[in-house]
Amino acid sequence: MRKRYVLGIDLGGTNIRGAAVGAKGGILARLILPTESSQGRQRVLGNLSQVIKTLSSKFSPKEFDLLGVGIGAAGVILQKEGIISQSPNIPQLDGFNLREHLEKEFQLPIFLDNDANCGALGEKWVGAGKGMNDLAFITLGTGVGGGLILGGKLWQGIDGTAGEVGQMTINSEGPECMCGSRGCLEVYSSATAVVRRLREEVMRGEKTQLVGKQGKRLDRVTSRDIHQAALAGDRLSRRLFREMGRYLGIGIANLINLLNLESVILGGGVAEAWDFFVPTLKKEVKQRAFKVPARRVKLLRSWLGVNAGFLGAAFLAWQRAAEERGYEG
Ligand SMILES: [Zn+2]
Repeated sequence: MRKRYVLGIDLGGTNIRGAAVGAKGGILARLILPTESSQGRQRVLGNLSQVIKTLSSKFSPKEFDLLGVGIGAAGVILQKEGIISQSPNIPQLDGFNLREHLEKEFQLPIFLDNDANCGALGEKWVGAGKGMNDLAFITLGTGVGGGLILGGKLWQGIDGTAGEVGQMTINSEGPECMCGSRGCLEVYSSATAVVRRLREEVMRGEKTQLVGKQGKRLDRVTSRDIHQAALAGDRLSRRLFREMGRYLGIGIANLINLLNLESVILGGGVAEAWDFFVPTLKKEVKQRAFKVPARRVKLLRSWLGVNAGFLGAAFLAWQRAAEERGYEG
């Protein structure tokens, strides 16, 4: 019998990360190509096709059976239809039926879901949430993404758009958010938010070693720079991570009360600054959440890092292909 495998792909605003993945989550081959979203839809689709072609060409069809391709993409994904409906990172694909397009091109089952949903699946499959049935995965990147595993399954909601932890309202009077609302968790706890807060504080006259004579231009500062400055003892940078952790703690306290989770797993670039934001996060959870679920929940760092998305997408492909073909995944 031929050996089975799937492809898992993380379609991001900057890079397309793909891998051939075995039944137990082993990575058999991997490839990264730039997304080149500024070059238009055709270029993005061409790069995506290239990843699928290159990875599958490494496995002879005589010996290997490609069951399907799972894709995680940023935005609101109409998962049943295979349509990307609101993608802030790749607006060129807005409203596009990616699944139909790729199924026609490759004659393979294509499975599409939100990137953070895939991250949650990846962490549950082979990462920090292995063996857990109730967890939230939160990515602290350019935005704040989220995925929920409840009762052992990805919680998708009636249209497949569930799990948008980053769009929970934390402050009704807060700053405007990309989603059209205001005061969402995303405007407080994303990389973008930390950078915006630094700019606001510097404009107000707050001092930081990050900008000025020895430092960078204010418009060039990244969240990673702010983390580095915090490590070097910069007081403003440390304060901003405490603030960011406080808002994140409010959001997580809501999740804990609502869902009684076994774990909350944090990934994305800002999670690197863990030591600076976790104390205020925990304090907020302790003050706001019920005692029993607050004591029970484990706050964990992602194990899989940038691999979480494509591994979860691969899991999706394994699971769905198994359902469709009628054998055990
Ligand atoms: Zn929002």
